[in-house]
Amino acid sequence: MTELQKALYRHFGFRSFKKGQEEIINSVLQKQDTIAMLPTGGGKSLCYQLPGYMLEGLVLIISPLLSLMEDQVQQLKAGGEKRVAALNSMLSPNERHFILSNISRYKFLYMSPEALSSPYVLNRLKSVPVSLFVIDEAHCISEWGHDFRPDYSKLGPFRKALGQPPVLALTATATKETLLDVADVLGLEHAVRHLYSVNRPNILLAVENCADTAEKINRIAELAEKLEGPGIVYCPTRKWAEELAAELNEKTGKRTDYYHGGMDSGDRILIQQQFIHNQLDCICCTNAFGMGVNKADIRFVIHFSLPQTAEAFMQEIGRAGRDGKPSVSILLRAPGDIELQQQIIQMESLSDYDLEAILSIIKKAGTREERQLRDVLINGGVQETQARTAVHLYLQGKTSKELLQEELTRRLENKLHKMHRVSALLGRKECIREALLAYFDESYEPDGQSGQCCSSCGIDLSPYEQKGERKNMERFENWKLELDRIFGLRSAGELS
Ligand code: ADP
Ligand code: MG
Repeated sequence: MTELQKALYRHFGFRSFKKGQEEIINSVLQKQDTIAMLPTGGGKSLCYQLPGYMLEGLVLIISPLLSLMEDQVQQLKAGGEKRVAALNSMLSPNERHFILSNISRYKFLYMSPEALSSPYVLNRLKSVPVSLFVIDEAHCISEWGHDFRPDYSKLGPFRKALGQPPVLALTATATKETLLDVADVLGLEHAVRHLYSVNRPNILLAVENCADTAEKINRIAELAEKLEGPGIVYCPTRKWAEELAAELNEKTGKRTDYYHGGMDSGDRILIQQQFIHNQLDCICCTNAFGMGVNKADIRFVIHFSLPQTAEAFMQEIGRAGRDGKPSVSILLRAPGDIELQQQIIQMESLSDYDLEAILSIIKKAGTREERQLRDVLINGGVQETQARTAVHLYLQGKTSKELLQEELTRRLENKLHKMHRVSALLGRKECIREALLAYFDESYEPDGQSGQCCSSCGIDLSPYEQKGERKNMERFENWKLELDRIFGLRSAGELS
């Protein structure tokens, strides 16, 4: 056993590294700036958590979502780590003050990108050595990625202000173009790159053509009933998520509920927890669901309609089979899907009239403070993502209606282009996996040996169906695990 393997076992109870982890960790330990791509579920968190224990100082992690941060903090705490906290909008001023005034006591600090803009936070961070600056979901930096977050563009200057600590940028889904942006924004010209395949060989890729929506609904009911669960059905809109959940509850014996961004956070947390703890078999949701849902045994992901981008598709199907066991992704297509997706994308566009109103609100606000401007717009009835984008562009100098419209049109066209690309590659007659991987600049040769590939290569869904004796098997497995636990045959880490 190497020293690194010993440390892995000591801190996490794992006996071996997952593919790529050791190389990434070694690069981080040598204090090299590192850009790393590992597939969804590939174990990216460990790539900064283990070095955190071996380096002096604080590991600062930028994470785009509250649920992601909370999930990571909970996991570290469950593993016995007390020196961990998350700095985000959920904290009361007192809690926030406590963390910041005791900053030297922490080993891992998670932060939302929004927290970067506070000078107080920056000053407190300057008072401690930062051993590693981690950017999780680093594709959010790129304006051309699928999940752009304007606040991520401040990470470069922020890092500089902290005295240029070594960076680890992590992502599961980035094209070459996006990776170039990551390097550019963070000033990582000389970063070491560890890029591993985004392929998830244990996920079968199926595409099925239906005549219309009614046929899709019947097919989803059939699949939800038959397939081994639990599963997720991604829907194009909030309304569809709700309606489909009602249909499935009526048509199947599966416990189904819905989840989307329009629900209040209490309800969302409840549904998510029920799903994680196997009190629900199926979730019908929009793309708001998934990030930070740490559930290893999701067996199927169904797409009710086209995803918006290939990146989003990889992220969404990547929630299946994190335990490495065979899992299936099924996309249902019908005439009209592209038009529907087009409409959804175009709904985000703003008319000249909207833009005039936005500009007048911004100018009246009399500030250039990003967060304030955003709040003023949101309070004025502008949708949150639109407010974010408008303020970001305004502060970048797009201060007239014409300049804003030009930029927004460019973005809209990019989105439409990406949607058409993913539609084409999921609709092709030849190997779909090959096309998806080619999108991420990877070559792939179907070898016919590593299990089933995709519907173009030919598939058989029966191995993914629920077996009658499943319940008994489960009880048997639990009983075996219980004995192992009593006699200490497995480490705590392996059990978790
Ligand atoms: P992602 O790459 O999607 O961020 P995570 O960091 O959330 O993945 O890890 C996914 C799962 O893999 C977690 O449950 C984690 O505990 C587990 N994991 C990470 N490293 C190892 C390892 N070396 N051996 C076994 N399991 C691991
Ligand atoms: Mg992760």
